[in-house]
Amino acid sequence: MTDPEALHASLPPLAAIRARITHAAAIARRQVGDITLVAVSKTHPAEAILPLITEGQRVFGENRVQEAEAKWPALVEACPDIRLHLVGQLQSNKAEEAVRRFDCIHSLDRLSLLTALARAMDKTGRRVPLLVQVNIGDEPQKGGCAIADLPALLTEAGAADLPIAGLMCVPPAGIEPAPFFALLGKLAADHGLSGLSMGMSEDFETAIMLGATHVRVGSALFGARG
Ligand SMILES: *Cc1c(COP(=O)(O)O)cnc(C)c1O
Repeated sequence: MTDPEALHASLPPLAAIRARITHAAAIARRQVGDITLVAVSKTHPAEAILPLITEGQRVFGENRVQEAEAKWPALVEACPDIRLHLVGQLQSNKAEEAVRRFDCIHSLDRLSLLTALARAMDKTGRRVPLLVQVNIGDEPQKGGCAIADLPALLTEAGAADLPIAGLMCVPPAGIEPAPFFALLGKLAADHGLSGLSMGMSEDFETAIMLGATHVRVGSALFGARG
């Protein structure tokens, strides 16, 4: 059998990532169409993004509302089927801008933000799917809601009739991520949620094997961030 690593290494970055996603999905007996590649373009200029759009990539991730406001309107005007996902921490005072600009928000992590997002959705009439970011490694410096606080946050989201699409995590750096992906999957299943945003450049295949529906890949597509 051909060594998949060698095959993938000879492809351009987007084609290589797509091939690796397809390969991981096949091993896991999953439909590749159930996995969304979010191309995380933060810090990279429009010139770096355009080639991916040309190659057919349509879902992009940014981690700052301001940066997205500066970079994306022209690109989205040129290619209206682009979908933007917010993958970074969100301040409540930017909730309305975020709801107007993004098509999915992966970083709901606290009650004050939930309230702000509910208000922003009422005001704009836009219902943007939300993923609850969980601090899966219980790291003090990391964003995300504590595992213990997740049930209450989901209850509040239900009461506010917010469109909760699933859970998101960024596992602790430098250690094996699989147990954390598995734990996020269990938490999602416990709450009847199907969306799982997990896996980045270094570990998206592991995440796919453990049920990821959204992988957020930056540097493997765009190169290192400056
Ligand atoms: C930057 C970022 C990514 C992409 O990380 P890479 O390691 O460059 O693939 C994914 N998720 C979040 C939340 C990020 O901030």
